[in-house]
Formats: sequence, C-alpha cells, structure tokens
Amino acid sequence: MRKNIMQANRVVIKIGTSSITYVNGNINLKKMDQLVRVISDLQNSGKEIVVVSSGAVGAGMGRIGIIERPKELNMKQALAAIGQAILMELYQKFFGEYNRKIAQILLTRDVFCSKIKENNAFNTMSTLLSMGVIPIVNENDTVSTSEIEGDRIGDNDTLSAMVAGLVEADLLLILSDVEGLCDTNPCKNPNAKLISHIDKLSEEILSLAEDSKNEFGTGGMITKLNAAKIASKKNIPTILTCSDDIQNIYDALDGKEIGTFISAKANEV
Ligand code: GLU
Repeated sequence: MRKNIMQANRVVIKIGTSSITYVNGNINLKKMDQLVRVISDLQNSGKEIVVVSSGAVGAGMGRIGIIERPKELNMKQALAAIGQAILMELYQKFFGEYNRKIAQILLTRDVFCSKIKENNAFNTMSTLLSMGVIPIVNENDTVSTSEIEGDRIGDNDTLSAMVAGLVEADLLLILSDVEGLCDTNPCKNPNAKLISHIDKLSEEILSLAEDSKNEFGTGGMITKLNAAKIASKKNIPTILTCSDDIQNIYDALDGKEIGTFISAKANEV
C-alpha cells in the first residue's frame, strides 16, 4: 500500500514543536535548517508542500524566558503572538536561502464550519501553491479560545488533518519526536515495537496511544491517530515519523517502511 505514496504530489507536512525547538523553547536552528532544506528539495522534485508548523508558543516561551508552559489562556495567547513572529522570521530566513517563497496562513476552527470561509481558504491556498509558494499554517492561537465551546482546534495534529482535507492533499506526513505508534509506550518500555502499518483505526489501536504530552508541545499519539482518522475520512493516508533523522522524510515519501503508515481507508468499517 505504501507504493502509491511515491505518487503523492500534494503533501501536508506537520512539524511539531519538539521537532523545531529545544526543551527550553528556543528554536533549534539546525533542525529548522535541515527541515527547510528537505522541503525545498521536495519542491524542486515537483511536489507541492503545505507546512503546518507548531512552535509559536514554545518560541514565545524561549524569547521571554519562561520554562513551564503556562496554563492561563491569556499568557499562552500572548506567547503565541510573540513566537509566531519569530517562527515566520526564521522560516523566511531559511527558505530565503533556497530562494523559496513562503506565506503565513493562520486558521481558526470556524473556517472549517463555514462553506464560504472554507472555500476562501481553499482558493487562497490553491493560488499560493499555483504560484510556487509554500504556505506555512498554524492555528491563530491569539484569537482562538477554548472558552467558547468548540471554538478552538487546540492542537496542530488535528489542524494538519483539517488542512490536508482542505487542500485535497494526497498525503499527510506528521513529524514529531517519536518514530510512530508502538505496541506499548516506548517511554516506559524499551522493548516497545513500532507498528508499521495500520489498516483500521480500531478501538484496540486507539487504546495503544497513551497520551505523550510534553512540556512544550500539545497533543501526543492520541491526537495523531485522531488526525489520521480525520484524514482518512477524506481518503488521505497518513504517515507518522520522527524528524530526528531527516532522511526519514525522504524514506517516508519514497514509500519505504518508516514510521507508522495509516491507510486512507483506516476509518472504514
Ligand atoms: N499552535 C501551537 C503553537 O504554535 C501548537 C499547537 C500544537 O503543537 O499542537 O505553539
């Protein structure tokens, strides 16, 4: 089933906070540089890439010197406002080195609840892609609040799946600090085995996804599997893999057995 992956032309790549920031919240420049280089190279090969990047709150924490992710909404929103500018500044710099054009897209849940807004977002994305621009998407954290029921997407795994559906992507690639889904929690069990292929997102599979939230990011394996579920509802396959080894991205897109592949049919009964 992975052999079709090589034909994937439009790919949404989700980059988690832990993939581009150090544990103190500062941006990991080496990592960002490597990722940008690979994405630029993928674009050279003819692929259309949409990036969903986390890291705004983390970068804001790093800039202000806050070690622990705050609980208060207003603080998180303020840090996101600081960090989003830092993120985009650095993406501009690194993508600029490869002569790439990028654009910032900040989305909120309501965009996906209104046909008109969704259509507008689709048209903007399509126009950017047709001009060879790489859209860099994040949730508009400074205005998305969880105080109003259902107002917030909340994590970028979910956002990346919604974006994949929006742009009618061929593949969703979720990069994080873990290889993929394992048969037990790898943080607790060193003998945990990677599950390389998921045909169906059964209750049993979902129960394997123990929450792996860390200090700087949001989400964990549960949100990744839920994202794969959302993507599969739009007939889009998902690959979860680790960004530590940049070669993983090439291998994943070459259809090699890397990370966890979740079939586009995984949501079907
Ligand atoms: N939008 C958040 C940020 O940029 C990230 C949410 C997530 O990591 O899932 O910090």
